[in-house]
Parts: sequence; structure tokens; C-alpha cells
Amino acid sequence: MMRENLQRLVISPSQRQEEQIILNAAQKHYLKRVLRLDEGDCFVAMDGQGKAWLTQLSENSAAIVEAFSLSDSELPVAVSLIVALPKGNGFDEIVRCTTELGVSNLVPIISNRTLLKPSPQKLLRWRRIAAEAAEQSERELVPQVCEPTTFADFVASYGSNSATSAYICVARGDVPHLLTCLQLQPELTSSHNGVPANIAIATGTEGGWTAQEIEQICDLGFQPVSLGKRILRAITAPIVALSVVAAMVENSSLKNPTS
Ligand code: SAH
Repeated sequence: MMRENLQRLVISPSQRQEEQIILNAAQKHYLKRVLRLDEGDCFVAMDGQGKAWLTQLSENSAAIVEAFSLSDSELPVAVSLIVALPKGNGFDEIVRCTTELGVSNLVPIISNRTLLKPSPQKLLRWRRIAAEAAEQSERELVPQVCEPTTFADFVASYGSNSATSAYICVARGDVPHLLTCLQLQPELTSSHNGVPANIAIATGTEGGWTAQEIEQICDLGFQPVSLGKRILRAITAPIVALSVVAAMVENSSLKNPTS
């Protein structure tokens, strides 16, 4: 069976009961009406943490045929994006696109210039978008979407050694390019004692960061970086940052030949 070509569905651990996966109404709708699967058809159920099951659809559940490990589709580094929330539904697009690009962790920030007041429904929506994008882009892991937090709380709770390297994207000023900084960090392309490197990248909202926010986050060890000579929108900047990281760490010519 070519399980690689099958549709994927993220399930929560409680849905797995012995050799069955109990489907909820939305999942049944998605499998039967959206994907047009019939009873007896197979799909892949995944827990979003690397485990997967080949399963066969029945009326209200799916029978597990076999467990397997998903193929290697993750970045060799864990990337946390710290994103000052943009206006409207802008963060939806950031979650969708950066999940496709391999982000590990998304931290929505209410910065001084954030206008959005996110409702609890927003968080559920972002988590659903992350799961759907992970299914679609055949990732092993569903990125974690944290609860929105104020910039002050983020700064207060950030441990000094939380990331191997941390960057803040600033739209103006004479600062090095993110790629230049990444290339100076050889540990990013080879895992250190089996522990993958961990990168944190912060991007601002439409109005950018305040000078005080930049100063405070730099005190935590974040390095100011550029993403090029043009001013990117708040939605574009995190997507570009992730693309730069992915291109850098997946460029096989830069990889440690023994890894
Ligand atoms: N209104 C601000 C720009 C905000 S752009 C100004 O006029 O200065 C939104 C966010 O995207 C910025 O806070 C920054 O984090 C990121 N960004 C946009 N363009 C960038 C660039 N060329 N280099 C680095 N970061 C950039």
C-alpha cells in the first residue's frame, strides 16, 4: 500500500481506542464530504508528534491497520517564531505559510503597536490552521501555537538560554542580513550531541517594534537582523525569515557530511 500518497488527518490521543480511531463530526465531514472517501478507503491518522497509523474508514470510526513512522520531513533545527500580531486575520496566513515551511513553535505577541485583541476562538482557529497545514504539507509534527502574550510577559518569562541563537527582524538600519548571521553559526547545520539547534526569530507588526522593545529584546540576547533592502509587510516578514532558515539548513552542501 502506498501510504505516502494517502490523505492525512491529525487526531488527538484520546481519539485512539485500542485498534480504532473514533472520529468526531468535523472529521467525518472532512473525510467523507470534502475528501470524498468511502467506507473501506484508507487514510493516514497522525498524532502531530511523529506517530502515524494507516487506517481504514468505517461508518463512525476508522480501524487501525498498522502503525508506522512518518518519513523525514522536518527541518533539522527547531524554529520558534515570535510574531507581533498583525491586524485582522493576518496571523492566519502566517500560521499557514510558516507551518508549510517547517516552523516548530509560534508565539503570538501583543506588542505596543498591536491593534488586534485576540479572542479565545482565534487561538483555536490558529491551532486548527496549523494542523491542516501540517497535514497538507506532509509534516511529521504539528507546530505548537502558544497563547497570545504581551511583549512584557514574553520578556519576563524568556530564559537566557532558551535558544541557540535568537534574532529580531528590523525593517530599517544598518544591521546584518539574517542569512549572514546564520552562516556564522555552524552548529545550526549539525545537531549538537543529538539535540537539534533551536532558533528564535521575532518579527514586528505593521507599525514595527518600538525602540524600547528592540532594546529590551536585545538585552535577552536577540540580535537585530535584516531580511533585505525592501520593507516587507508584517505578514511577509516571518514567511521570508522561515524561508531563509529552511534554505540555509536544508542546503546539503553545508551539512555536516557525517550527520
Ligand atoms: N512600519 C515599519 C515597518 C514595519 S514592517 C517601518 O516603517 O519601519 C513589519 C515588520 O516586518 C517589522 O517590524 C520587521 O520585523 C519586519 N520587516 C519588514 N521588512 C523587513 C526587512 N527588510 N528586514 C527585516 N525585517 C523586516
